[in-house]
Amino acid sequence: TPGVRPLIAGNWKMNGTLAEAIDLARSVAAAPPQKADLLVCPPFVHLVPVAGALLKTEVALGAQDCHAAGKGAHTGDVSAPMLADLGARYVILGHSERRADHGETDATVRAKAEAALAAKLIPVVCVGESEAERLSGQAESVVATQLAGSLPQGFAAAGGVVAYEPVWAIGTGRTPTEEDIAAMHARIRAELGAEGAGLRILYGGSMKPSNAAGILALPNVDGGLIGGASLKADDFLAIAKAV
Ligand code: PEP
Repeated sequence: TPGVRPLIAGNWKMNGTLAEAIDLARSVAAAPPQKADLLVCPPFVHLVPVAGALLKTEVALGAQDCHAAGKGAHTGDVSAPMLADLGARYVILGHSERRADHGETDATVRAKAEAALAAKLIPVVCVGESEAERLSGQAESVVATQLAGSLPQGFAAAGGVVAYEPVWAIGTGRTPTEEDIAAMHARIRAELGAEGAGLRILYGGSMKPSNAAGILALPNVDGGLIGGASLKADDFLAIAKAV
């Protein structure tokens, strides 16, 4: 999208030892400047040491979730202000694995996104249809409903990012056709109205070095959210170079 700097984000999910996390962060940060912003999102327990490894580098740090409350009696949870305090700039919200594993609804995601914005974190809100929804022709309407329910007022104006991740493409090696990706991204931008003009819309789901250039060149694709391929610095950086 003209005037929009792409974002290549790595979602490390629940992977890696502490040593592996630091090593991966250092390898990503050792790359020369890219045509895109780079972001890595380690598991909570690795955030502080990875923040140290990324100090004085161009690579941004993000978390994979936050709580909707700023603090309080929520055993085992982590708040947005805590993440901002340790140096995170982004937080992934509403990933399909959290929607499935933890029963997160659009309303949950919206409350978390409000908390993130209040803490000056950039939310990366994930939306995407199931395979049954795609096959029955409902993909775009499902995603439009998720956007309406998950994004707080002023989301795009505050720099919020949307990641389109078809659930059936995550970790499966399958992707929608480039035509389907472009159509969905155009729909997402249209759903946001005037506010959506500068919105960064990422594609996620089995992106890898071999398919990245084609996907990242599509109109309204402003970067990628990368799962499996973000665990190898060479693959992650090859995707960034494809921008
Ligand atoms: C993800 O879960 O955010 C993702 C895109 O995973 P993968 O790249 O492994 O499909």
